[in-house]
Amino acid sequence: MTEPENQDTEQQASPFETRADTRPNEVPAHEPPTASASRRDGHSITLRDLRVFYGDNMAIKGVDIGFAPNKITAIIGPSGCGKSTLVRSINRMHEEIPGGRIEGEILLDQTPIYGDGIDVVAVRRAIGMVFQRPNPFPTMSIFDNVAAGLRLTGTARGKNLNNVVHEALRGAGLWGEVKSRLDKPAMSLSGGQQQRLCIARALAVQPEVLLMDEPCSALDPVATLRIEELLTDLKERITIVLVTHNMQQAARVSDITAFMLDGELVEVADTEKIFTNPDDERTEQYVAGKFG
Ligand code: ADP
Ligand code: MG
Repeated sequence: MTEPENQDTEQQASPFETRADTRPNEVPAHEPPTASASRRDGHSITLRDLRVFYGDNMAIKGVDIGFAPNKITAIIGPSGCGKSTLVRSINRMHEEIPGGRIEGEILLDQTPIYGDGIDVVAVRRAIGMVFQRPNPFPTMSIFDNVAAGLRLTGTARGKNLNNVVHEALRGAGLWGEVKSRLDKPAMSLSGGQQQRLCIARALAVQPEVLLMDEPCSALDPVATLRIEELLTDLKERITIVLVTHNMQQAARVSDITAFMLDGELVEVADTEKIFTNPDDERTEQYVAGKFG
């Protein structure tokens, strides 16, 4: 499919008002993203005594942590410690797994995202997710991949779809590489470009928070570096939670690092402290590569 021309050009007071009427009393207001990394006050996520279950098995065992606005928080810890489970509970993906449920509380700013009357689709729009392997829709063009989320949620109503898609591609640092071939298949892109396309798809709906579950683990070092640079730009307007098994990556890009072990949060502190002078002996051993 080619780019639609000026899908909706009717005047709207502001893009957010368009959104606001589709997600009443749910999530905080913000300005739309711009191509440049203009700073915008981000939003916080707070977990209170979070317990996450697969049937009877408790995979997250009472975690309290806040993810600060305009910061990148890295979550590190050995395989199986619950990193993916934790982030999937933050955008309510965990409940899609049979037997999946949570106890405790998760707040977006002051709003409990599991509260009564909260729309799951609105939660997932406000709290986007990028996965380990790039997962563009394989039969769609580059343009349509980015537009897909907007079309599904109706978020582009009252705005020019082309502008939103182009903006998201700029935000994901992909525009220059794809602007002349937006109608080409997404699968014609390299792995790193596909992952930035998935980031563009996530950005297109203007999330407040981006959850990234080992987003570079399938990428080569150059593509990884591109994504890391991008994250540093994005945190100017979005709160980022970055799961990584790569401790150098956590040390390079994150402001705050949380270390998890066996479903528990061992320690969370400024990244520099975690890597140089952690309080907990287990953190020290893990960052020194003694296990995991
Ligand atoms: P990590 O991302 O840190 O490697 P996970 O969150 O994937 O850890 O896994 C945490 C725990 O939850 C593990 O014990 C794992 O076996 C369990 N688990 C993960 N996914 C499922 C699932 N779909 N069903 C049942 N148990 C699961
Ligand atoms: Mg995982």
